[in-house]
Amino acid sequence: MEIARCESCNGYGWVEDEFTGETGDCDWCKGTGYVYRENGIDRPIPESDYGKVADTLERLEEARMREIGYSGQAKKPWEQAIRGSDHKLIPRVGRNDEDGE
Ligand SMILES: [Zn+2]
Repeated sequence: MEIARCESCNGYGWVEDEFTGETGDCDWCKGTGYVYRENGIDRPIPESDYGKVADTLERLEEARMREIGYSGQAKKPWEQAIRGSDHKLIPRVGRNDEDGE
C-alpha cells in the first residue's frame, strides 16, 4: 500500500476555506496529511492503522518539512496519540455526521 501526501491539503492536515479564511481538518485525509493510494485512488488512512504507518508518516513528514524549510518539530495527530496527550485523534464529528439514520 502506497502512502501519498494528501493532495487536498498538501500534507498539512488542515485546510483553509478560501472564502471565509476559516481552517479545519482536511476532509480528504481526516487531518493526517497523508492518504493511502491504491490503483490511483486515494483514501484516508484509518485511525486503526496509524500505529502501523507511523514510521512511514514520520519519514514523509520530515521530508515535507525539509521541503518547506521548516526545521522544528511537527506534531501530527498520530504523534499526539502515541504520546498519550489530551489531544484526541478522532476526527471532529459534527460537520459530517454520518451516524444519523
Ligand atoms: Zn488532506
